[in-house]
Order: sequence, then C-alpha cells, then structure tokens
Amino acid sequence: MKAFSSVANGKINLSLDITGIRPDGYHEVAMVMHSVPLFDVVTVEVGEGEGITLEISDKTLPTDSKNIAYRAAEKYLDRINEKSRIYIRIKKNIPVGAGMAGGSTDAAAVLKCLNRAFDERLDEKELMEIGLTLGADVPFCIKGGCCLSEGIGEVLTEIPTLKGKKLLVAKPNFSVSTKDVYTEYDHTEIKKRPDTKAVIEAVKNNDILALKESTHNVLEEVTKGIHPEIGVIEDIMYSHKADLSMMTGSGPTVFGFFQKDEDIKTCADKLKETLKDVCILKI
Ligand code: ATP
Repeated sequence: MKAFSSVANGKINLSLDITGIRPDGYHEVAMVMHSVPLFDVVTVEVGEGEGITLEISDKTLPTDSKNIAYRAAEKYLDRINEKSRIYIRIKKNIPVGAGMAGGSTDAAAVLKCLNRAFDERLDEKELMEIGLTLGADVPFCIKGGCCLSEGIGEVLTEIPTLKGKKLLVAKPNFSVSTKDVYTEYDHTEIKKRPDTKAVIEAVKNNDILALKESTHNVLEEVTKGIHPEIGVIEDIMYSHKADLSMMTGSGPTVFGFFQKDEDIKTCADKLKETLKDVCILKI
C-alpha cells in the first residue's frame, strides 16, 4: 500500500471581524489568516476493502467519526463515490482547542492526501467545498499561506505572506470551545473592530507596527472576559518588547511578534515558567 503524507500547518489570525449572522445562525467573517510552521504530520494509506482506521498520537482525541480528520475521509469517499480501506495516522504537535485550527488542518491534510491517492480526481475548489462542510477554517487550511477569509470561510483572497518575522506562540493551560465563544459573542456588545483593509495593506507591506494600529480580534473581548489570563500573557509579551501581541481565533492562544532574538527568547523562558505550550517560530 502506498502512503501519502502531508504536513498540516496551524494558523494564526492577524485579524478577526464578524460582519453578520445568517438566518441559519452561521457567522459571516472577515479575517486575515496566516499559516505558521507549527504542524501536525498526517499520513494516509488506501487499500482494498472498506472502513477507516485512525491512529492519533494524542490519546485524549477521538479516533472515530468524532474526529474531524475521520469525517474528512468519509466525505471524500462519498464525494468520489468509492469504497476503500483507509488508514490515517496523525502526529499531533499543534495544541488542541487552541484557536490554531488544529483539527481543521488535519482534515485539510486528509483531503489533500486522499486526493493524491486517487490521482487528483478533484480540483482545489471541490476539495474546499468538502472542507467547508467540515468547518469554516478547513478551506483556508487547504490553501495555506496568508488569506483574507470572508463569507462563512469559503471566500478566500490570497495576500502575500509576512516575511522574516519572529513569532512567539503561547497557549494558556486550558482550552476553549469555538462554538461556546461564538455563542457568547452573540450576547456581547463589541466596542472595537479591525480595519480589515488597513490590516491587508500592513501585511502586504510586511509592517507589524502598521498591523498593530489597524488590527483587532472581536472574539478577544469575549474569551478574555472569561479568561483574564489572556491579557496577562499579552502584557508579559509587551513587557519583553513585542511589537504586537493578540489572541488568535476564538483563543485562548496568544501570539506576539518580536524584533530581537534575545527578547523573544527571554519572553519564551518567562512564559514557560507557567505554561506548557510555548514555542518560537519564524515566518
Ligand atoms: P479552530 O481554530 O479551527 O477554532 P481550535 O484550534 O480551537 O480550532 P481544535 O484543536 O481543532 O480547536 O480542537 C477543537 C475540538 O475538536 C477538540 O475538543 C477536539 O476534541 C476535537 N477534535 C476532533 N478532531 C480533532 C483533531 N484531529 N485534532 C484536534 N482536535 C480534534
């Protein structure tokens, strides 16, 4: 049996705005997402027979249809109308429930691996259509890089990626449910919103200080209201000379951009005194 592997990158939100709520309850978004080099490794094998077997290094995660990667395989086979025996192995590195699209990126990688196994039977647009039925972040995870994501996550516009940036990512020692945060958002009065056009300009110009002037994550008020620890991590990053520090997605992970290796390293060491998931990345 031939194995197909893919790295499944996590993401951060350089901005996140909610622009409307559809009658069916789906939130319309305008968010700038950026892939980061913190990734799971996904391997897929296809053989004779039927059934899906999923092995995942994090033993707290489900291995049946509760796992979004498992559902991705089911949906792909349905779509191409094939029955096959599928083995999926996932080595998790992205923290779970972090706001870094850990599950979504695994699902995206399964779709891409299966498509290679089936001789690229679907094009990227069709893979993204399947992806959207799994979750709003899956289409972006299929594309990767840096994108403005609109609609309910299906309208993606590519933006040049940031270059030569030092990024610190720190997840508090708890997770949040994306669904709960969006529900709470519906009852929260939002006082500040990002200037998404200016955010895109700042990213194009590779200018973190201009990004700081224009960006915001509207879910930050919601998650920070419940978990003030998020603000404490941001303050620690700023006290170590971060140019920008904010929460990604529905949280609780906080990221910061730094200019100097010594500042990011000292900040990482400080955060590691209390936090389990802290890593320095280069993008
Ligand atoms: P997003 O940024 O897309 O909102 P997240 O990073 O906040 O996602 P995930 O790590 O995707 O959150 O986990 C959310 C929930 O999904 C967890 O409670 C977990 O049990 C479940 N889950 C199902 N499949 C996976 C998977 N392959 N990897 C991680 N979590 C998964």
